[in-house]
Amino acid sequence: MTTLEVQGLATGYGDLRVVSDATFRADSGSVTALLGRNGAGKTTTLRAVAGLNKITAGSATLDGADLSRMAPYRRARAGIAYVQEGKRVFRSRTVEDNLVLGTYACRDQARGRTLIKEMYERFPILAQRRKQPAASLSGGQQQMLAIAQALVADPGVLMLDEPSAGLAPAIVGQVLDVIKDLRAGGLAVLLVEQAVDFALAAADRVVVLNVGRTVYSARSDDPGLRDAIQRAYMAEE
Ligand code: ATP
Repeated sequence: MTTLEVQGLATGYGDLRVVSDATFRADSGSVTALLGRNGAGKTTTLRAVAGLNKITAGSATLDGADLSRMAPYRRARAGIAYVQEGKRVFRSRTVEDNLVLGTYACRDQARGRTLIKEMYERFPILAQRRKQPAASLSGGQQQMLAIAQALVADPGVLMLDEPSAGLAPAIVGQVLDVIKDLRAGGLAVLLVEQAVDFALAAADRVVVLNVGRTVYSARSDDPGLRDAIQRAYMAEE
């Protein structure tokens, strides 16, 4: 069992505080979605958990260990994987190079090599294109590669920032299937989404952020959730 617990987290850019109270948890075998309109602080929250922005108040713990005391690479080794928005793969490097780079965050290199083989089974297109530059893949395939690159680090928590953004509807369905599959395999998935329907289809729990604060947190089948989401998307700042 893995649990990421974020409690009253505050973070921002330099002196600019954009998140003042993010509170949620992500557990093994479940998908948690962070929702909120543009600028609510969703991406910044993920960046703070990954170690790219400083946690200035509150806490983020992984199985009780304080993440704020760990450098970003140590958080990756501890089991936090982060797929940034916009398919951040190394486009000029081959598919295989991208996967090998992903294993550097893995505690055990032999395990990393095994995981690359598993990724080729899970995503056959990556095996077919292993020697080709990542740039030759379609947008959806690059998103799969970005997810595979995160998974070869053997994480306990997978954070995905807008995995459906910019993808054709058919590919969005495939991304959804991958997320459900990873949940069934016991991963804790933390998803940031603009697309409310995608988030509700994927998530077990939904956390609504508004102007840097958690304003609602509920199971995705909670009858009051749609209203809460609507209020957050309409709210005045
Ligand atoms: P979006 O879907 O638009 O990315 P979001 O909820 O993920 O929305 P963030 O990207 O976390 O929001 O942005 C929160 C606030 O932080 C916004 O007001 C944004 O302008 C600001 N911000 C984002 N990146 C930076 C940066 N590098 N420097 C300063 N401010 C930033």
